[in-house]
Amino acid sequence: MEKLIMIKYGELTTKKANRKIFINMLENNIKKILKNIDYQISKDRVRMYITCDNKNLNIIVSKLQKIFGIHSIVVAHKVNTNIDEIKTKCLEICNKESKTFKVNTKRADKSFEIHSMDFNNIIGGYILKNTNLKVDVHNPDFMINIEIRKEGTFIYTNELKGIGGYPVGIQGKGLLMLSGGIDSPVAGYLSLKRGVDLECLYFESPPHTSVEAKNKVLKLASIINEYSGNIKVNIVPFTEIQEAIYKNCPDSYIITIMRRMMYRIAEKICLKNKLKVIINGESIGQVASQTLTSIGVINSVTNMPIIRPVACMDKLEIIEIANKIGTYETSILPYEDCCTIFLPKHPVINPDLDKAIRYENSFDYEILIDKCIDNIEVISNYETNEFDSYL
Ligand code: ATP
Ligand code: MG
Repeated sequence: MEKLIMIKYGELTTKKANRKIFINMLENNIKKILKNIDYQISKDRVRMYITCDNKNLNIIVSKLQKIFGIHSIVVAHKVNTNIDEIKTKCLEICNKESKTFKVNTKRADKSFEIHSMDFNNIIGGYILKNTNLKVDVHNPDFMINIEIRKEGTFIYTNELKGIGGYPVGIQGKGLLMLSGGIDSPVAGYLSLKRGVDLECLYFESPPHTSVEAKNKVLKLASIINEYSGNIKVNIVPFTEIQEAIYKNCPDSYIITIMRRMMYRIAEKICLKNKLKVIINGESIGQVASQTLTSIGVINSVTNMPIIRPVACMDKLEIIEIANKIGTYETSILPYEDCCTIFLPKHPVINPDLDKAIRYENSFDYEILIDKCIDNIEVISNYETNEFDSYL
């Protein structure tokens, strides 16, 4: 007798024509996340099965709970389709502390002669006879699920909820503008959930921003990478552009123009690395650069599609997700970001596009942008806790 992990697919089951692609993508993602762990995996149209040593079981289950495209995860006992073996296993896994139970049989293998309802009664009767438990079909304390399949019979009591969504990568890749704040890691998580894999882009301005600020961003990337397994981080040296803006443009337009430069650089990286969309953590009205007028003036430098997953969320809603995915505690560490170091007293709330263009044309930003692109530092293949000790 053996234990195994059974994975039920999520929303992908609704996509009939693409089912195979979805399932293969999910399997690849599982392999990426479970690298360095010993296990065997197999799959059919409705399930994936993982077998492993008992010592790896819990580790694998917890990692599976961060993989999009999984509806639920079950640790099942696999036995031969033999009534005595099934009875013995069902009795063994009964929660004797509970008061009531219900048996639920699914007969996927129709060559098994006993119908599901009859089999429920056989197993239920056996448990009633050998324990003090009672049957409650409406609100049982626990369920005994029995799935009779061609390859054997699977028995389990608990079904853990997966995180749903689409397999990461099914929509291709986008570029997440990742700052050290609360919003952008959440925006990244929400994009991954819809199947968009990520590369990250971080603008640093040393010596105005610290190495801790950079490590904080890398730490955030490593947390959201648990949902993907292959997120690269592009670190752009942004100091010269920021200083040029500061020197040549009026205070109130510094942020507007800085963000236009960020988008220009993001677009170039997308084209270079074949990324389909820019993603960021902008939220309507949160700061002066995120009024609808500001968003319009900033957005107009690029034709790339831009997704703002948290645009319509309140800060408290964003914080709730940040807490759930484990980025919040890192995001609130106090290291300053390039957006906060040159913060003007009165940033323009309703910027004028013509003025923004006139101000930024007062210096040769194209050269500086190309220099940024040429000097990007790329970080990949890092582990989840790799940057903790530098914070
Ligand atoms: P967050 O919005 O993530 O909490 P923040 O509030 O510091 O961080 P904002 O000033 O609100 O950032 O900027 C809006 C968005 O612009 C961020 O969510 C992020 O996507 C992007 N962004 C800001 N600063 C940077 C940076 N240094 N590198 C990369 N992207 C950035
Ligand atoms: Mg923000």
